[in-house]
Amino acid sequence: MISVEEALARILAEISPLTVTRVALPESSGLLLAQDIVAQEDIPPFANSAMDGFALLSRDSQPRHGRHGQPTRLRVTGEVAAGYVADHPVEEGTCMRIMTGAPVPEGADSVIQVELTRAEGPNSAWVEILEAVPPGNNIRPAGEDMQRGQTVLRQGSEIGPWEIGVLATLGWASVPVIRRPHAAILGTGDEVIDVEEPLRPGKIRNSNSYLLEAAVRRAGAIPHRLGVARDTVESLREKFSEAVQYDLIITSGGVSVGDFDLVKNIMSEQGQINFWRINMRPGKPVAFGHISGVPLLGLPGNPVSAAVTFELFGRPVIRVMLGHTRLARPQVDVIVEDGISERAMRRHYVRARVEWRDGRFVARTTGNQGSHIMTSLLNVNALVIVPEGGVEVHPGDSAKAMMLDWPEV
Ligand code: AMP
Ligand code: MG
Repeated sequence: MISVEEALARILAEISPLTVTRVALPESSGLLLAQDIVAQEDIPPFANSAMDGFALLSRDSQPRHGRHGQPTRLRVTGEVAAGYVADHPVEEGTCMRIMTGAPVPEGADSVIQVELTRAEGPNSAWVEILEAVPPGNNIRPAGEDMQRGQTVLRQGSEIGPWEIGVLATLGWASVPVIRRPHAAILGTGDEVIDVEEPLRPGKIRNSNSYLLEAAVRRAGAIPHRLGVARDTVESLREKFSEAVQYDLIITSGGVSVGDFDLVKNIMSEQGQINFWRINMRPGKPVAFGHISGVPLLGLPGNPVSAAVTFELFGRPVIRVMLGHTRLARPQVDVIVEDGISERAMRRHYVRARVEWRDGRFVARTTGNQGSHIMTSLLNVNALVIVPEGGVEVHPGDSAKAMMLDWPEV
């Protein structure tokens, strides 16, 4: 039996980022950039107004006769709206009405906002300038945000809504990214029937495949649910022959020591097993290896074990394939309000709800921690980690908790 850390290290040693592809800009969210993005243009591409107002020569805004003199009156020669270019320059003694985002007309070196002017209605032929404005006032110069030749985004950056905004600004209709992994999800067991079937004696519904499908999607991969293999070598072989077209195979069940635990046998027949037992609870029987060169993560059959081991091992695998380097969920110190009565010799990951209360994180466990108790997963946002060796956790003791709803660090 190996430790959780060793298991993760041995798994990740075999996993690397997938190949580069191009996706349409809207599909790039959540993926990692496969190259540096260098601006090919100045952004903004032209000097433009930051305000609705009047474009003028700043020296024309000086009051006529000293500090308290008459306000300057300028002739309004036209208007420039956003999306259009002025058809004549601004000359001394004149100005042009200008809207936010409109290019500053030639000749003008300043924009005065409409609030600092007085006119005779919206189409006034003149305007009074009520305050002096310096050169450059309310003008957003070309290249103020990004300059042609500037590296704006680095290879390996995660693309989110804000990066997409920058990429759109720079004209990247499609983006070079590391592609999303495709993951096959395979259930095993003669007792496992599908979700729409009525229960029959001795049968249970396939919860794992659906749980894992959603977890795989949330981790950023594309899930392919391949149904359930019977507990026969033939049935498993058939399913695996389909599964090997994907980047990753995730199975549940069939990896412990029972007579019908055949996933391991097929792995050694068609590939290799790296390990198959981890010193943890829930989820001791986790197998990792390859089949026809495709990494295979064999998770336990008990739904809670499958869920927890996916979080600890499956999610990091998918993130490495996506190109991520931050893989570990943050851990915080918590007070375990209700304590943990069950003692385990293996490292114990206890399902809990962690909340910030009165200046500290407080964890409440979710009851019966049996690996078949699916309701122990409900409302969970953290796993309280109890070290190996049967450590007792009394009510009010502190412990580390792995935060499942915080981004990886
Ligand atoms: P196994 O590792 O195959 O011995 O399975 C361990 C336990 O998990 C057994 O009680 C199985 O019935 C149960 N189990 C296995 N696969 C599934 C599944 N897909 N959905 C729900 N429970 C399962
Ligand atoms: Mg089974």
